[in-house]
Amino acid sequence: MKVFVTGGAGYIGSTVVSELIKRGDEAIVFDNLYQGHREAVHPEATFIEGDLADKQLVEDVLSQHQPDGIMHFASHTLVGESMKKPFLYLRDNVVNGLNLMESAVELGIKKFILSSTANLFGLPKEMPIDQNAPVHPGSPYGESKYILERFLHWMDQIYGMRYAALRYFNACGAVSATHGEDHDPETHLIPIVLQVALGQREKVFIYGDDYDSPDGTCVRDYVHILDLAQAHLLALDALSEGSRTYNLGNGTGFSVKEVIETAREVTGHPIPAEASPRRPGDPGVLVAGSEKIRKELGWQPQYSSLKAIIESAWEWHKANPEGFAVQGSMFKVQS
Ligand code: UDP
Repeated sequence: MKVFVTGGAGYIGSTVVSELIKRGDEAIVFDNLYQGHREAVHPEATFIEGDLADKQLVEDVLSQHQPDGIMHFASHTLVGESMKKPFLYLRDNVVNGLNLMESAVELGIKKFILSSTANLFGLPKEMPIDQNAPVHPGSPYGESKYILERFLHWMDQIYGMRYAALRYFNACGAVSATHGEDHDPETHLIPIVLQVALGQREKVFIYGDDYDSPDGTCVRDYVHILDLAQAHLLALDALSEGSRTYNLGNGTGFSVKEVIETAREVTGHPIPAEASPRRPGDPGVLVAGSEKIRKELGWQPQYSSLKAIIESAWEWHKANPEGFAVQGSMFKVQS
């Protein structure tokens, strides 16, 4: 299969691209390198540097490569940032996603996988979050993804475009010592904690310790990037049987304090931590009920232990303290 991957140089997208290529599929990566890294893109993928806001370029690339399907990762992805810059999220994520869908329709591309998010459940009443729990987006970010899910519903109804909306919980971990998470600025908990262990930060700030959770800190469902990637491949293969929406998480929650404690164990570093105010838009507890994808597609996460997840991330961060910028690896830029 030939897959057009927006955001294919990013953390999740580049991992899925590598897995697609590993199993013999072809990947056309389209990324503006705003957050992504050219070095993260598998050398056998076709890489096009471009912005989704350039609808003509997207159309040209799609008509040149004629992909069988689209995986749409490219977007602004931070809950906290979306509370400060709502227009950025509500405009860019929504308009770029809609333009991409329109181009797909015009070119007869009938398979579409959307990166969606657990944030569209807002402050859920029941944990784990059932697949069919009511949707009340918790931030402009979550709202932007929900709007795209609704657009896809109509693309399916009207044009027969089959889609999968994958509602991620907390993506984390590294593929290997040469392929891992690298955001600038970094805002995610596990990399920040490991940056403290590396001496790049003095301490980690715990955003709120007065939540309604066992130790007062936020609980999240951490799902390894390779497990997420497998879910994308399974969903892509299942699209011919119809559109679908899945929660993607392990079904187990870990608190911020548990993450820090496990990282202390894995790294042997004391990792100083300090309580600080809550981050706007953060729900207290988010844990996935992901029985649907397990049952329908046989998805079985391999990394359900927090220790294994943090060990894999630590391997990457230790080997590449500055991220992709200075590493020498199979992912080096091809001249
Ligand atoms: N968090 C924290 N300190 C940090 C970064 C994150 O306490 O420096 C908390 C954050 O409030 C959330 C959890 O860690 O409850 C995971 O945050 P992250 O940004 O990694 O992912 P999100 O849940 O926002 O997708």
